[in-house]
This record gives sequence, C-alpha cells and structure tokens, in this order.
Amino acid sequence: MKTIGLIGGMSWESSAHYYRILNEETARLLGGLHSCPVIMHSVDFAPIAQMQAAGDWDRAGRELNTVARGLVSAGAEVLGIATNTMHVIADAITQSLDVPLLHIADPTAETLLADGFDTVGLLGTSFTMEMPFYKDRLMARGLTPLVPEVDRTNLHGIIYEELCKGIVRDESRQVYVTAIERLKARGAQAVILGCTEIGMLIDDSVSPLPTYDTTDLHAKALVAAALS
Ligand code: GLU
Repeated sequence: MKTIGLIGGMSWESSAHYYRILNEETARLLGGLHSCPVIMHSVDFAPIAQMQAAGDWDRAGRELNTVARGLVSAGAEVLGIATNTMHVIADAITQSLDVPLLHIADPTAETLLADGFDTVGLLGTSFTMEMPFYKDRLMARGLTPLVPEVDRTNLHGIIYEELCKGIVRDESRQVYVTAIERLKARGAQAVILGCTEIGMLIDDSVSPLPTYDTTDLHAKALVAAALS
C-alpha cells in the first residue's frame, strides 16, 4: 500500500475525521491489524484563513507547496488536500511535484453520477460556492451544481465561527437544513457537503436530500488510490 500524504489542519476538526476514516477504511479493506500509512502535515489554520479572507491565494499556494514538498520528501506517494476550499490553489500546491494529487471533487462527482444524480446542491464556504474552480470541476464531469441563492454569508460564517472550532449548534443545523430545502425546491436531487466540516452538522438523518460528504468520500478514495 502506498503512503498517503495529507495536507491538513484546515481545520484540524475535519482532519481528525480524515485520520479516523483513512484507518477504518484500510482496516475494512485489508482486515486484521492493518491501518493506513499516512503522513499528515497539519498546518496552523489562523494565518491561512487570513490569507483566504485577504484573497492572498499566491502566498497560500507557496506555503502549501512547501508543505506538499515536505510530504513527498518524507515518502508520500499520493497526496490529498483535506479541505475543499484550498483546491482553488491545487495547481500551485502541487507545482513541480510528480506525485499525484487526488482532487476532492473527483470521487464526489463519480459517486453522485454512479448513484444516478445529475443536478446537485453544493454547500461550502463562500469561496467554494461562488468561485468557479469547484463548480467547473463538477460540470466537467457532467453534473449541474446549484448553490444557495440566499444566506451564503451565514452558511460560510457557521463554518469558520463554529464548525472549525468544534462548535455544533442546533440553530446552525436548521440554517443548513433550510438551505437544503431551498435547493431541493429548485430541482437538486442530492446535496454535496462541500466543506470538510459540514458533516459534523448534517447527515442523511436530518437532510431533506441525500447527502454526499466530501470528507468521507475523499478519505475513502485516498485509501483506494493508495491500494491501487
Ligand atoms: N474545511 C473547509 C473546506 O472544506 C473550510 C476551511 C478551509 O477554508 O479550508 O472548504
């Protein structure tokens, strides 16, 4: 099995879920005492979040490229970025590296298509919902993504002010459920939890649409890639 290199800490709350899923999936597939060979570089999210807010994607790209290089030097053979948002600079992060990156949107799109869905809601940070990088990737795979028309600032704020700090509130869950209801009314058949912390708040038991949790799908796909 190849060694996975994971760029984490954005936030550490979701990276902890990645670590658990990587190991549980490896044990499920290989049995016995098998666990996942993984090297994680978990960054300090505060300065990265400041760069995001300032739109300083160039600097974030350079810093995370250094992190990715370190993972490859340490023996990583397949790379994952444990956040949807930072895939906006996926090319910069992996610049000049010949180790493959498993893009978080790809297993997500493949699973939705395999389940027969084509029109899907997309929830995430404002960056993920509003910038083209993520929607374009889904559309290139044949999906039609719909993002909320209202309340995007509130949905974004709940991620940074609450979920990234481990705070899970019923009131915030209701904000997300309402957003999913609106997406459903516009024709969405399923919803992408397109931020690696949203699974802390929403799952199929409360969602008006079937949920596709990018943390779960990405981590399992990384294990499959490491085993291939
Ligand atoms: N983890 C989140 C995501 O998947 C948001 C935090 C970040 O900006 O990295 O987009």
